[in-house]
Amino acid sequence: MERVVLRNIGLLLSGDLHRPILDADTVLVVNGKIAAVGREKDIHCEGAELVVDAKGTCLMPGLIDSHVHPVAGDWTPRQNQIGWIDSYLHGGVTTMVSAGEVHTPGRPKDVVGLKAMAVFAQRAFSAFRPGNVRIHAGAPVIEHGMVEEDFKDLAAAGVTMLGEVGLGSVKDGATAHTMVGWARKYGLQSTIHTGGPSIPGSSLIDKDIVLAADADVIGHINGGHTALPDEQIVELCEKSPRALEIVHNGNERAGLLALRTAGELGKLGQVILGTDSPAGSGVQPLGILRMISMLASLGEIPAEVAVCFATGNTARIRKLDGGLIEVGRAGTFVLIDRAQHSSGKTVLESIERGDLPGIGMVMIDGMVSAGRSRNTPPAGVVAEVVS
Ligand SMILES: [Zn+2]
Repeated sequence: MERVVLRNIGLLLSGDLHRPILDADTVLVVNGKIAAVGREKDIHCEGAELVVDAKGTCLMPGLIDSHVHPVAGDWTPRQNQIGWIDSYLHGGVTTMVSAGEVHTPGRPKDVVGLKAMAVFAQRAFSAFRPGNVRIHAGAPVIEHGMVEEDFKDLAAAGVTMLGEVGLGSVKDGATAHTMVGWARKYGLQSTIHTGGPSIPGSSLIDKDIVLAADADVIGHINGGHTALPDEQIVELCEKSPRALEIVHNGNERAGLLALRTAGELGKLGQVILGTDSPAGSGVQPLGILRMISMLASLGEIPAEVAVCFATGNTARIRKLDGGLIEVGRAGTFVLIDRAQHSSGKTVLESIERGDLPGIGMVMIDGMVSAGRSRNTPPAGVVAEVVS
């Protein structure tokens, strides 16, 4: 599709924390990228191959799950489920970031093996996009014995990030700091596991290790599931300039504490969201929507701001293409409306009351990936392809 027009948008959420609502009703996408955002009368809409009538519903950027654990294809051995990525698409997730392919049966822990697996996962998920969902994978879990040259090799082979530090044998702050530094030197992003062990075999990573490691993302600051004591979470928010990631499969109370603390410190720009799934607690197709709703309702954050945590913030911090409604970005959108029979009068009010929005359509790179979601409560009004 060369030219795509989305018109009659009732509410446009930008994903940008500084201006979360845009005064616009039309978006033009050319060759998969946003080419114009504004009022229909001001945009050159002729010659479009695809026209979507939003019917007055709400458009927001495609959601980004900052913390997934893919393995191979659309299968997770952790719960022996297939089709989980396609299910998340029906929860509005259009981009996923791997925090390590850690559930791979027989995952290699020797240096040659873990590097080979990272390169394999990066290649395989670059080429495999169920429902067009983009999966950034190939995230090796660091182990003792790795040297600087290994990080250089990984970068040269196309690997762009590390899996959760702490899930391998490196669990001390000094070694983690050294290896995270090597990763950063060669352009690899890093994430650290935070809190108690998630499954047998993983272990406690406390605030001292997290601060010493200084990874780019404080992975699940609210625990995965077991959270650090409150004072340690507060200290991490106060002292770290890095991303503060809150996950679905973490401790909800700790997540709300992290959100409140980040807000008080003026650090909402550092808050990003993930599911930390598939995991012991399963597969959560609506996990990111549930986080937005939970943080907006119990955290008393405007819904349009909570959306930014799972879109613009993550895109900026992780240097991704989508996540914002602005010219030049990917034409990747979710069209939502207040769910049928929500007590909220508008879609934003419904989210602030703790309800989930209904998804009417998902578009990725200017193409329709899903119509009315099979997983969310039904949207009151659903966008429609009109030509
Ligand atoms: Zn973890």
